Amino acid sequence: MDEFDKQVLEGFGDTVDRIVATPSGASPVLRNGRGGLRHNRYIWMRVYDETRARYGRPLTLLAAERLLERVGPGDHVLILTNSHEMDGPPGSAALARALLVGPRAIPVVMANFQEGSKHERALTQSLTGCQVIPVKSRDELRGSIWTPYTALVYNWPTMTMGEAAEASERLLDELYPKAVITVEATSCNEKGVRHGALGGPSNRGDPDERIVRWNQLLDAARRRGALTIATGDNGNECGFNTIKDILVRHHPYCRDCGCPCHGGIVSATGAEIVIPATSSNWAAYGVEACMARLLGNPDVLHDEYTHSRVLVNCANEGIPDGATAMASPSTDGCSREADMALITQLRQTLAMSVKEIVRESR
Ligand SMILES: [Zn+2]
Repeated sequence: MDEFDKQVLEGFGDTVDRIVATPSGASPVLRNGRGGLRHNRYIWMRVYDETRARYGRPLTLLAAERLLERVGPGDHVLILTNSHEMDGPPGSAALARALLVGPRAIPVVMANFQEGSKHERALTQSLTGCQVIPVKSRDELRGSIWTPYTALVYNWPTMTMGEAAEASERLLDELYPKAVITVEATSCNEKGVRHGALGGPSNRGDPDERIVRWNQLLDAARRRGALTIATGDNGNECGFNTIKDILVRHHPYCRDCGCPCHGGIVSATGAEIVIPATSSNWAAYGVEACMARLLGNPDVLHDEYTHSRVLVNCANEGIPDGATAMASPSTDGCSREADMALITQLRQTLAMSVKEIVRESR
């Protein structure tokens, strides 16, 4: 690739980054209860800008490049998420699809859920909506189903800190994942307390409490040399400690959660690449677009019809939008139309990025 093409590729990555990190169609104000404090979500753009400057490369492009360098056919990739709101399952499913169609990896979508509950179905229905066949055991990944387009849905139970550390080593021994990607996997801060977007704590910080714990898994994977990528829109997502200094400068709840721990909501664990975007789902779609561009295969990025299906499938399980708290096929208080338009923008940017306009006279 010559210098000109390198510059064009970087420009493509910046365009994708800006599309997924621009809150167009998003409600900017999140109020903590009627008459409560208002949180301005536009500040997140500053978090993106400073993170982009620190890495010196478009974040979605960097993530896609590293994924394609490190992940090959048959390699496992862990995708850590939640299935209790709309930000998580659709982005995870879309990444799973991109990893199958692109590098032909084996996606493992991990979340905490009750077997047979709507929270399990949110994952399986999102995968199906994204054309991927969910399976529940490793045996089903190889041999028993003729199609290669399967993803393993893996339940990560609530655990004490010690149990989570042990379970993480066991899982890594079993699957040897080449990469771990978090898609709205909220995790504990340095005081062991897990917080919501508006600072609300969900536990006391006792290491022997059985709660959803992701930090141990990401830390263990990183120690073993797996690529770690974190997506998020608030700072409480697993992996965001890498940019803690940027977060506390701009985000009031990252500075102080307001709960008795006063540790701020920032995750205690860092990832190699951190992508602050309008939502974790949107960051995941941006990584897809960049993988598609690098591989020269537009099909790696899912299309509008698939996008509509994945959002509706997930919402129809009774999963709420994380901001509006209603079961609408949207993410984090962005309108459904904006979410749909996002995929069109990404697809058009991808399609046009390989074209050249020649200006000449007859
Ligand atoms: Zn706290």
